[in-house]
Amino acid sequence: MLEHLRQTDPDLARLIEGELNRQRHNVELIPSENFVSAAVLEALGSVCTNKYSEGYPGKRYYGGQEWIDQIEQLAIDRAKQIFGAEHVNVQPLSGAPANLAVYTALLQPGDTILGMDLSHGGHLTHGHPVTFMAKIYNFIRYKTGADGLIDFENLRQMALEHKPKLILAGFSAYSRDLDYAKFKVIADEVGALTMADIAHIAGLIAAGELNNPVPIFDVVSTTTHKTLRGPRGGMIMCQAKHAKAINKAVFPGLQGGPHEHQIAALAVALGEAMTPAFKDYAKQIRINAKVLCAALKAGGLKIMHGGMTDNHLILADVTPLGITGKIAQTVLDEVSITLNMNTIPDDLRGPLDPSGIRLGTPAMTTRGMKESEMEQIAGLILKTLQQPNNATVKAEVKQAVHDLTDRFPLYPNF
Ligand SMILES: *Cc1c(COP(=O)(O)O)cnc(C)c1O
Repeated sequence: MLEHLRQTDPDLARLIEGELNRQRHNVELIPSENFVSAAVLEALGSVCTNKYSEGYPGKRYYGGQEWIDQIEQLAIDRAKQIFGAEHVNVQPLSGAPANLAVYTALLQPGDTILGMDLSHGGHLTHGHPVTFMAKIYNFIRYKTGADGLIDFENLRQMALEHKPKLILAGFSAYSRDLDYAKFKVIADEVGALTMADIAHIAGLIAAGELNNPVPIFDVVSTTTHKTLRGPRGGMIMCQAKHAKAINKAVFPGLQGGPHEHQIAALAVALGEAMTPAFKDYAKQIRINAKVLCAALKAGGLKIMHGGMTDNHLILADVTPLGITGKIAQTVLDEVSITLNMNTIPDDLRGPLDPSGIRLGTPAMTTRGMKESEMEQIAGLILKTLQQPNNATVKAEVKQAVHDLTDRFPLYPNF
């Protein structure tokens, strides 16, 4: 890899090599990250980046689309088959633009959206006041209850009171599966449309490991680069009756020419997601998360959302160890273990120094790690967090992390 770059731009080549080495030698636990296959990287770095293709397969504004049309159609057809979708748009540039496109397609400015509170597991694009979307739409938020699970009685009361046009199910820091039928019953009761944002869990749904909202919801948005293990991008699946509105919102509503190199790489990733090997991968992600979760809990961390995980991620309160989420993230960074600080439900601390950490298993499962490595990683995390100021401990942990990652090579042929 990089043979041309090394010649023409050695400065940049050195920086990319530095990033590759970081990825190789870190225990990567950020639950939204993953490592794509060499085949996905090849398609992403292909000549498809040279082509302008405004419009959709068979209905483009420029000529020369005979190959690009087939590439985009292949991605669409594979996604339809995997998720059981009536219509798919693969052009959203990422998850946030996909969500904005859904709102643009289905709603008028000022309309009300009922989504999950950010500190309870929702995403910024579900109506956090710092977003542009929050200026356009009226977001209200449901929360988890005392048991850590989504409080459907509270959700129903809010829906009856606020009469939202859209009820949004989806999260970036919630460790449990969702009962989409329950959302649908409430939405039908108040005449709301249903949207699921499966950005984090698309790969687990594709493999049949978690419930699939596509058959019963109006619209489902996702990223393609998290558990789905594709290139960075977004995708919208919807019922046929919303197809026209969704397509128009993406282009020309919000975007120009689609990124066909990214769509080609998505087609590759979707092809991979249809294989038995991917099903095994998704199953192992969940097994690994359960093992990691149990070991961290035994070590004194307080696990949110009912004290367990159904999916790939764990949200844990670290304050029982006498530290904050920010301290945890910082000291773990020093030992080459990467995760992120995160607020916990109704956190008394702010987002810049919250009480919790969020971690997950998709990336390390891609590396081939299994239950025993998860036990080992939990041990290294706990050892570090119990003595965050002990330089000897940190040096030992860092060495152990490098020894561990060396046993699971990343892109060995590069
Ligand atoms: C990651 C994520 C997004 C945003 O995706 P980007 O590709 O970062 O724009 C949206 N919604 C949810 C639930 C996410 O987890």
